[in-house]
This record gives sequence, C-alpha cells and structure tokens, in this order.
Amino acid sequence: MNDTFISWSRQRGVPRLPVERAGGDEFILTDGRRIYDFVSTSFQSSFGHGQPVIVAAVRKQLEEMAIALPKADFSLKRRATERLLKLLEAGPGRIFYTTSGSESVENALKMARRVTGRTHVAARHKSYHGASLGALSVTGDWRRNGHLTLEEYTIRIPEPAADPAAVETRRLIEAAGPNRVAALITETVTGTNGVYIAPPSWWQAIQSFCREHGILLICDEVLTGFGRCGAPFAFQTDGVQPDMVCLSKGISGGYIPFGAVWVAEPVARFFDDEVLSCGLTSYAHPLGLAALDGVLDILESPSFQANLQSLESTFAAGIHQLVTQFHASEVRLRGMLAAIEFGSRALPTWDQLIQDNVHVFTKGNLLILAPPLTSAPARLQQAFANLASALEGSLKSG
Ligand code: PMP
Repeated sequence: MNDTFISWSRQRGVPRLPVERAGGDEFILTDGRRIYDFVSTSFQSSFGHGQPVIVAAVRKQLEEMAIALPKADFSLKRRATERLLKLLEAGPGRIFYTTSGSESVENALKMARRVTGRTHVAARHKSYHGASLGALSVTGDWRRNGHLTLEEYTIRIPEPAADPAAVETRRLIEAAGPNRVAALITETVTGTNGVYIAPPSWWQAIQSFCREHGILLICDEVLTGFGRCGAPFAFQTDGVQPDMVCLSKGISGGYIPFGAVWVAEPVARFFDDEVLSCGLTSYAHPLGLAALDGVLDILESPSFQANLQSLESTFAAGIHQLVTQFHASEVRLRGMLAAIEFGSRALPTWDQLIQDNVHVFTKGNLLILAPPLTSAPARLQQAFANLASALEGSLKSG
C-alpha cells in the first residue's frame, strides 16, 4: 500500500503497521500480534481504543444530528461547552471550536494579533505547535525547516532551563519592542520535544512581564490537556493564568478530529463589536462535541479517577526501574507523560520496538512514553517488562 503518504517521513522504505483493529490499550495486527500503545497512538487516545462511553456518545449523535451550522444552537453544544469551561477552571471565558491542534494554535494566533493590533509572537526553541504555516512559524523544532514560515514575526526565546528567571526572554522581547508583541506561546509542558517542565520562577517572570506589556499568554495544551499531566490541564498544576488555551487530541480521545481554543473573557469581548475573522466548515462539529461530552463523563467517573491514581504510581515506578536498569542520563516525568534520555547510546528503531510488541515514541536518544489513562496497572507493568527486554540489546552496554 504505497498510494498514501506517511507524515513527517522520507517515503521510500518507511515502515507501515499492518493493523487489523484496536481495543483498550493495544493494537491488534493482521498476524494476530498485540502491540501495547505506549504513547496513546499520537498522544490522543488518552482513554483507549473502543472506549464504550465515547463510542456510544458519538454513535447517538451520528444518528440524531451529525452535521450542524456554526450558527446552530443545540443542547449538546451548550452542555459540552459549559462542562469544558468548568473543567478548565480558568475564569470567565469563551470557546472557539476547531478540528485539530494546528487549527487551535492558528486561530489563537489570529485572535491574539487582531485583539492587540500587534504583529510579533514569542515562542520557544524546543517546541511544536502544528503543521499549518502560522503554527509552524512559532514551532521551534525541525518540522519548521524549509517552509515559507513567518520568521520575521517570531521572537525565539530560550528554554526555561537556560533562562529560569526569564531575564534573557525579557531582554529579547524588549529589544524587539514589547508593543509589537501580540503573544507569547508555550506548550505548558513540552511534548514531543522532550517533556520539559518549566520552573515556577519562569512562569512567574513571564506572566508578570506579559501582563506588564499587554502580551497575551497562550498555553498550548494540545498534548497535555485532559488528564495527561496529573491535573485536567497542566497550567492548573503550575498555577498559571493564561489568556488563551489551545486544545485538541485528548479533547475527543482522538475519536473525532476536534479541538478548541479557550479565550479569557476580557480578550473575547473584543469580538463583540469587531468581526471574528476565523471559521471552519466543521466548526463546533456535533460528533466532536459528542466525543468531548463522553470524555468529560469519563474524567468525572470515580472508577476512572481511582484507576488513574494507581496507574500514575505504576507509571512512575516503571519509569524509575528503566532509569536504574539502563543508567539513563536524564528523566522528566509529569503524571502520565515521561521522557528518558540515554546519553549517547542509540535506541532501537520504531520497527524494532514493534517486534517486541510496544509502540513508543523515540527521537535520537530520547524515549517518550504516554500510555492510555485507562490502561490497567498490571498491563502497564507487563508493557514495561516488554519494553525493558526490547531495550536490552541496544542499551545493555550502558
Ligand atoms: N501542539 C502540540 C503541543 C502538539 O503536540 C501538536 C501535535 N503533535 C499540535 C499542536 C498540532 O496538532 P495537530 O497535529 O492535531 O494539528
């Protein structure tokens, strides 16, 4: 099957996964093998595959009303939005719905520029914000390379670890002229670039600097939202008060391409008398809203929360065991998201790891794990054992 492209890859020889179906926390291949989904597919299947609550919610909506106008007002839209605002606990605000993480970031940037009347956006080096040109322009990693991005409007700020009190960040923004800077965008916890967690001093400094200059703070929670990092949203753990929050992936558990931007009320109010020049055919898509409603039911369920609590301890213990066994050089962990670095030692390739029945995310010497939040602790333990034996061959020399 070579008639479809595989994303972010040279096409010749790119491995493909002959998958028959998926259930719970695993993929079942055409040869019957079961592969543990150690990164929740692409970090979106946080509630597993074939999750009955989400499936039922989407199926019901598919039959009742699968399509709606952006102007449509219906009970599911009101209910899901109200529940989402409650879960965000970020103060009064409004939601703009999208169909992907890139679109959430794209629309947040458009709104921030429009509201402030400013052009520039500050963004980090180690970051990914999406594949469309606006989102790619603020992305720091290799995926930006070679595209006609809006470099002249991006102020590239250092990583928090290198600038813990944001002194250099302040200097860079002051040099560019703070009154030209519409927003500072950051993943609340860095995702695919290595699970970097900013210290409280950095958050405090950038928040007071942004407030001082009317720069909007945009938290990209596309990957970290909906329980991935220990709280419903990572900004809640860090005590951050964003002006906008970008969401996708876990918002629908990946069942429907869906996303959202939360906009704080004082920012949102601008559009009461100005045209909101943002839109999508599938705006506030009923199937996405139904999946979100299902996700919110799951998050509220005591049995899900009880399992998650013990899963988080199993996850932390499994990570710790890998770190000790293979003498990892660094580890970063928040909730059910972790990155482990193995110095200069090479990790097995993605397809080698599939041979050992685990689907993980690797990048150079970096291993990222983010299992479904609905996995059973015993299954996660078994998956760690499989992963350890897969790593044995290439890392035992360490
Ligand atoms: N922001 C972050 C932090 C992401 O991890 C991703 C996707 N990996 C995106 C934005 C873009 O989301 P999408 O691929 O749904 O457009």
